[in-house]
Amino acid sequence: MRTFYMTFGCKVNQYETNCIEQLMTAEGFVTTNEYQSADVAVINTCTVTSSADSKCRQFIRKIAKENPSCIICALGCMTQTAKSADILPECAVIAGSRNKTALPSLIKRYIAEGERIFAVNTLDDNTIEPMCSKAAGSKTRAYIKIQDGCEMYCTYCAIPYARGKLSSKPLDEIKTEAKALIAAGHKELILTGINLCCYGRELKNGTRLIDAIEAVCTLEGDFRVRLSSVEPEMITKPDIERMVALDKLCPHFHLSLQSGCDKTLKAMKRHYDTDMYSELVENLRESFDNCAITTDIMVGFPGETAQDHEQALSFARQIAFADGHIFPYSRRKGTPADKMPQQVDKKNKHARALEMAKVISESREAFLASMVGKTVRVLFEKESSPLYHQGHSDNYTLVKIDRLSPETTLRRQMRDVKITSHDGSCCYGVLVQ
Ligand code: SF4
Repeated sequence: MRTFYMTFGCKVNQYETNCIEQLMTAEGFVTTNEYQSADVAVINTCTVTSSADSKCRQFIRKIAKENPSCIICALGCMTQTAKSADILPECAVIAGSRNKTALPSLIKRYIAEGERIFAVNTLDDNTIEPMCSKAAGSKTRAYIKIQDGCEMYCTYCAIPYARGKLSSKPLDEIKTEAKALIAAGHKELILTGINLCCYGRELKNGTRLIDAIEAVCTLEGDFRVRLSSVEPEMITKPDIERMVALDKLCPHFHLSLQSGCDKTLKAMKRHYDTDMYSELVENLRESFDNCAITTDIMVGFPGETAQDHEQALSFARQIAFADGHIFPYSRRKGTPADKMPQQVDKKNKHARALEMAKVISESREAFLASMVGKTVRVLFEKESSPLYHQGHSDNYTLVKIDRLSPETTLRRQMRDVKITSHDGSCCYGVLVQ
């Protein structure tokens, strides 16, 4: 059966779709990139914002309209919060966010019995769904999901309701998976999770994220390790001392800030303040050469005044991020923030997002300028044009060098590059022979 896959949302979802596709292929389903002619469509949904919900819904309706005989299967965060199959009448199979690997058998059951299937489990245990990615296609980099769930309940976030209790992949399984991905030729492994820093917490045996990082970084092979988004309050000084000793660990930390104003952080129920955040950033920059700090910032949170916003802008300037994503606050039914007074109007949210984006682009430009003259290790990913070989440095800077020749590829090679210039969005350099 020709099967089409579509993933909405985060890196964890992309990892999970990759694993589902590997399972389905082993069961004889054949991947196609065209939903119009597919026999089966697998939609891994996201519910991080209300617009994410509508995008998933719209795409499913599009498939149902353009390919009425297609067996549409929806799973993931949006379906996990559903009470019944009525949420998506176009779908033959609806699974949740913790029984995705059951999909091949659910589809076969549907084909045999012809009855729509609503198979959304509860999320009230700490069991991680067993998934192991054997390879990520021809990609240079590969994700390893090591953690699931979140119990932080930030006031704007629906994820704890869609992903449930904390759960962690056992260390030996992480190592086995990493070895397989290294053997498959992947040069960068990205450890990811719903709340990565909560790795091991529910095990109550002292296992922590740093143990998983060490477990992967100490494996044999020519590869490097990157962390996906981490929560500021969970990276301790002893963790940093252990991380510094790992030469495979990339000096790039995506520290989710959300707001640079303490009053707003409190209203968001975040677990740090701006002093703690800037102290951590200072510590990381002192510990890692060429360290890049990137972030996520939300603007227009309920109750955020123009003065609070000014504070947030000046804090972002002070930290001088290497890059960042800006999100205007998006109301989410069922979250405490949705019921908060003093909701900020769309026009103001938009204006604040533009101001914050300007601060970030100025600090990104300054960061790229600081790279000029330095030699960095670049993992080449593609020949982006007839002119350039392109890749990312260990601190996640996009780097381009002139093509060596039309037929030469540097894909999956890690090479030293001397940075000679930048254009505000990437750096240019020359190979160090
Ligand atoms: S830490 Fe907060 S923002 Fe992140 S997933 Fe958990 S509840 Fe959501």
